Amino acid sequence: MKYALVTGGSRGIGRAVCIKLAQMGYHVLINYVSNEEEAARTLELVREAGQTGELLRFDVSCQAEVSKALEAWTDAHPDAYIEVLVNNAGIRRDNLLALMPAEDWNRVLGITLSGFYNVTQALLQPMMFHKYGRIVNMASVSGLKGMPGQSNYSAAKGGLIAATKALAQEVGKKHITVNAVAPGFIRTDMVEGIDEAAWKKAIPMGRFGTPEEVAELVGFLVSPAAGYITGNVISINGGLYT
Ligand code: NAP
Repeated sequence: MKYALVTGGSRGIGRAVCIKLAQMGYHVLINYVSNEEEAARTLELVREAGQTGELLRFDVSCQAEVSKALEAWTDAHPDAYIEVLVNNAGIRRDNLLALMPAEDWNRVLGITLSGFYNVTQALLQPMMFHKYGRIVNMASVSGLKGMPGQSNYSAAKGGLIAATKALAQEVGKKHITVNAVAPGFIRTDMVEGIDEAAWKKAIPMGRFGTPEEVAELVGFLVSPAAGYITGNVISINGGLYT
């Protein structure tokens, strides 16, 4: 059995990625932090896609929780390893920097950057030992361009892109690829309240993207066919920023 872990797999892009990975034959570990009902729905959809899966609750920003959950999983599966990791969990807490509480700065960076560290660090050694792995980090157009009102989110995603490039150079020889995906506006809970009608005038494709479109890209990056793509950021934004 081949195993894949998707952080933030309960909703939105993460859910679509879980379904795509199931279609590709992976047993999917669906991480979530609080929304057990939606995580269970993702598991149902994974099963409908003909695969097995399981829920794994932890807050990616909390190293103790991540270690506890992943060590328990490894103890229960001594002969297995997780060969695909999609670091997808993320939040936004938008505000002008001048008005931004430290809590909103720290929380966004903690989930994106410490989350990347906590989960990736825990899974990297088994990938290196097996000389195969695929890591995809969910960045954003904000991490490339910088978005006003999102200095915390832009810093977090920009940092994630830099970490992607650094790690790719560390593990290439072990046949592990590390890439980032940078979506523009994708229809999920995260963009609730954002005026699609107003924004779509700025998007050459004239619409927001769908989680399934992002999942297709992730599916390609984790496939054996993408074995020579590493350390890259692939945008999927309808032409919003090129
Ligand atoms: P979403 O619908 O709001 O879903 C967020 C997911 O992250 C949920 O599964 C949530 O779990 C999980 N999560 C949040 N905090 C977590 C934590 N501390 N530990 C573990 N899981 C946590 O978001 P989305 O739009 O699908 O976004 C997914 C990723 O794509 C994010 O990294 C986001 O920054 C990025 N992105 C999104 C867009 C967009 O337009 N939607 C654009 C660019 C980049 P619960 O269900 O348990 O809360």
